[in-house]
Amino acid sequence: MRLDLTKLREGRLEERFEIGPDHPVLEGYDFEIREPIGVDVELVHPAQRTFVMTARIRGTALEPCRRCLVPTAVEIDETFRTVFQEPGRDAEESDEPGDDDIVWIDRGAAGIEIDRQVRDRLFLETERYPVCREECKGICPVCGTNRNEKECSCTVETVDSRWGELEKLDLGEKG
Ligand SMILES: [Zn+2]
Ligand SMILES: [Zn+2]
Repeated sequence: MRLDLTKLREGRLEERFEIGPDHPVLEGYDFEIREPIGVDVELVHPAQRTFVMTARIRGTALEPCRRCLVPTAVEIDETFRTVFQEPGRDAEESDEPGDDDIVWIDRGAAGIEIDRQVRDRLFLETERYPVCREECKGICPVCGTNRNEKECSCTVETVDSRWGELEKLDLGEKG
């Protein structure tokens, strides 16, 4: 995904990209994509050497429900902003390279590559371990029956794992 700076008109550029299931940006992404994820980008050029990108990532990804493992849709709708900056000619410039909010680009660059920013945001913001529905009963840990579909007769300690984690923490503090 590349923003062509030669296409800036009156300091503004709009672009739409689609991330299909085979897009290299998705390498290492655990979710399954069936429909392309849309990326709507607006780039403005409010000052010399400064480009501000606002990008909206929208789509649906599928991940197994954390309780019953049925593929579950995870809606993605994230808007984020990144400032791209060309370094100044003088060392006196106050902008410190290394500032998290600023991405430095080559002086006089004809384009800006945004795969990295989109990827980081997508990976960061996609909610992990979804639940297919709040009342999902999950899979019986003893016999493997999907308890949404069928009741089984196993006796299972029904302690929510989150409380289990808290209890461990408590013990750790006392010990
Ligand atoms: Zn479920
Ligand atoms: Zn069972």
